[in-house]
Amino acid sequence: MAQQTMRGMRLGAQSLESERGVNYSARVTHSFQCKNNHISEMVFAADAEIPQTWQCKSCPQQAILLEDGKQVVLDASEDKIPRSHWEMLLERRSREELEEILQERLEYIRARRAGGQADL
Ligand SMILES: [Zn+2]
Repeated sequence: MAQQTMRGMRLGAQSLESERGVNYSARVTHSFQCKNNHISEMVFAADAEIPQTWQCKSCPQQAILLEDGKQVVLDASEDKIPRSHWEMLLERRSREELEEILQERLEYIRARRAGGQADL
């Protein structure tokens, strides 16, 4: 009796949606949703590690992986946190170098202003 009940059962994690995703050969579709509620669908190899975030296809926002229709909770680990351009710049250059570049730039702008040209 108990055996018969078991036979008809599927593993809970195997939803209809994920079955559809593995249709032909080893590929899966994952959806990513951004803050503007755009859904970006991406196809991955079935054995690929799925990133938690993806660049939204419709806007500049970062889209977050959807699991069972809900956004996954992002790992708090350092390397997953998107860095700003400023942070990346700081990794490549020292603060002194940046100061120098800034000064050069300011002098250039001042020179242009002195020459009566508009800022670019
Ligand atoms: Zn978007």
